[in-house]
Amino acid sequence: MIVMEAHASQTQVRAVVQRVRQLGFTPHVSHGRERTIVGVVGHETDTDLDSLGALEGVERVVRVLHDYPLASRDFHPMDRTITLANGAVLGGGGVLMMAGPCAVEGIEQLEEAAACVAAQGVRVLRGGAFKPRTSPYSFQGLGEEGLRMLRSVADSHHLMVITEVLASEDVELVARYADVLQVGARNMQNYRLLQACGAVDRPVLLKRGLSATIDEWLQAAEYILSGGNQQVALCERGIRGFEPSVRFTLDITAVPVLKRLTSLPLVVDPSHAAGRADYVGAIARAAVAAGADGLLVEVHPRPAEALSDGAQSLDPIAFQTLVGEVNRIASAVGRAAP
Ligand code: PEP
Ligand code: MN
Repeated sequence: MIVMEAHASQTQVRAVVQRVRQLGFTPHVSHGRERTIVGVVGHETDTDLDSLGALEGVERVVRVLHDYPLASRDFHPMDRTITLANGAVLGGGGVLMMAGPCAVEGIEQLEEAAACVAAQGVRVLRGGAFKPRTSPYSFQGLGEEGLRMLRSVADSHHLMVITEVLASEDVELVARYADVLQVGARNMQNYRLLQACGAVDRPVLLKRGLSATIDEWLQAAEYILSGGNQQVALCERGIRGFEPSVRFTLDITAVPVLKRLTSLPLVVDPSHAAGRADYVGAIARAAVAAGADGLLVEVHPRPAEALSDGAQSLDPIAFQTLVGEVNRIASAVGRAAP
């Protein structure tokens, strides 16, 4: 990590970047409020990186032994943000609400869900077209047909689309229709998929694996970042605990831990942790109070008829209540409303 002096000029930063390249490393420049940091990622062979300290404008060269340098806050101290094409922003103080059905089931269901979330001021529509189901006999999603529905319904409501990509060979297809790619919990350590997401020009929401440690999760994010895609956000969605009364145990402590370790935006999915609609509100409020940058919430026009995750899906009235509550918590803790 090459820390530039507080008043280092652009030319001095450029000279450092050029020298780093000459030495065969990849520079990652991060402009902070106070100073610029040039991150150098790679295996140190016999190159003397300390010699970079002699260049003009360099304050010091610090060796950081990190498993996830690009994801770390050390390399990138300022909170990162992801801005979508409709102006919705993830990170940077606001709370971004992403909502919609677990799965796209058909055009009418999706249209009703989109109208319901858009009416509450939501700007990002969720919905799975490729579903990672525990049983091979469960509804697997509508595939490309579902992606097409997502795009047209979202466009008609000025919404952005977030949807899951299940396999590396589908990344380009999903990226053609979606604004944000979701990597699901079951795929957090699918390294070929992460690499494919690193090579695409779309923000990626990386969910935490069912039993993944925070360290493993950040190293998974590093796969995407090191592939060249800097638009990565994390999503805590609950981990496997011993308590059977909830589907997963939402690790609320992951919020402050991640805020310390990384400057990547952080989303909380209360729906998959809760497993029951009546628990979703409490978890969502806690997540916003703790500092989450966004929420990913399942909403269905008629949860009893849902083809997946109906028990945890909010109906339109419950969703309206949730948005009101979350808004009140957001303003109480000095955050912009979702
Ligand atoms: C989903 O968002 O519908 C989903 C399958 O989530 P997860 O990967 O967290 O289980
Ligand atoms: Mn779901």
